[in-house]
Amino acid sequence: MGIYLDNAATTKMSRTAINAMLPYMDGIYGNPSSLHSAGQAANEALTDARGRIAKLLGCEAREITFPSGGSEADNQAIVSAARMGERKGKRHIVSTAIEHHAVLHTLNALQKQGFEITLLDVPENGYVTSEQVRDAIRPDTCLVTVMYANNEIGTVQPIAEIGAVCRERGVLFHTDAVQAVGHLVIDVKAQNIDLLSLSAHKFHGPKGIGALYARKGVLLTNLIEGGAQERGKRAGTENIPAIMGMAAAMEEACSNLGANAAKLTALRDRLIAGLSEIPHSILNGDPLQRLPGNVNFCFEGIEGESLLLLLDDKGIAASSGSACTSGSLDPSHVLLAIGRVHDIAHGSLRLSLSEENTEEEIDYTIGAVKEVVAYLRSISPIWRDLVSGKKEFLIK
Ligand SMILES: *Cc1c(COP(=O)(O)O)cnc(C)c1O
Repeated sequence: MGIYLDNAATTKMSRTAINAMLPYMDGIYGNPSSLHSAGQAANEALTDARGRIAKLLGCEAREITFPSGGSEADNQAIVSAARMGERKGKRHIVSTAIEHHAVLHTLNALQKQGFEITLLDVPENGYVTSEQVRDAIRPDTCLVTVMYANNEIGTVQPIAEIGAVCRERGVLFHTDAVQAVGHLVIDVKAQNIDLLSLSAHKFHGPKGIGALYARKGVLLTNLIEGGAQERGKRAGTENIPAIMGMAAAMEEACSNLGANAAKLTALRDRLIAGLSEIPHSILNGDPLQRLPGNVNFCFEGIEGESLLLLLDDKGIAASSGSACTSGSLDPSHVLLAIGRVHDIAHGSLRLSLSEENTEEEIDYTIGAVKEVVAYLRSISPIWRDLVSGKKEFLIK
């Protein structure tokens, strides 16, 4: 039995997405920059996909470009806003401590170039307020970048409120919406978003393709030098099959948004209720302001890696947090930012659901996690010290 509960890391491609790609690997394989009809057929597909994706975000087709995924989109959005700011002598950027590394590492690079970065603290539930953003904006602020929904603890931020504050203060607003697209309602105009990153493989589309929305008037800085593709904003022959797969997957996810969210929320809350029965466990992230498919717990006296390996033995694919930090021994920066101490942060488990998961799978998973946590505690010297009172429990 295989139960896949790591959809925040990546998703299985949908049949719709695969079918949308096949014609462009087989029959229509021209280069959209070519003048002959084979090239023009590919170019028409590109135009079609751009329009469909723009429509789903509430923007114009020419405001969309196609980077290689969420990481590239985040890099380009932030660097572009920084370059625009720099030209006006504005070198201050506001963000949060719980952003994805594609954002945080880009900000680190800018800091080395003389930018000043304010990372907003988040409270235990991981929720950033528009008041915090308002208070952090200065006359020399050129960009606010706050993720739409967190990939580890699932917290959904008040994007429209933050957008309104940024617009009022004349500061560009970027949001990493990689976890939100296909799961939450997005309207870039109504939410006052200037730059938005998304990635196809997080909503049952192909890997290695994403989209960047940049509002008219926001000048994108080229990260890839070369040809004049994407109006000179992103060199390289366009990945038409992936772009077509992304458009199809996004339409499918967005057209089923309400039904999927209701199903996922029910499964999520069932899983949360089951895992909350484990003694000395705590739910990470806000119980309500969270992605419909995200569950994240810390279990005291547990080592996350062992938990994952034993769950894998039971046929369950889970994660300790970010796919990018798993494999390293550093605890998650997100869990540390919401106030979990190192020992507790090490005992984390993220389960991220898809519409294909069933109640039976959720119930099996609850049983398996209970069993594995009890087993790991039974062989843990730390747990023995906690139970005997030699050490104090951090999670009541
Ligand atoms: C997955 C993810 C990314 C990176 O997207 P890629 O397409 O894998 O480069 C960025 N931000 C968030 C929030 C993510 O979940």
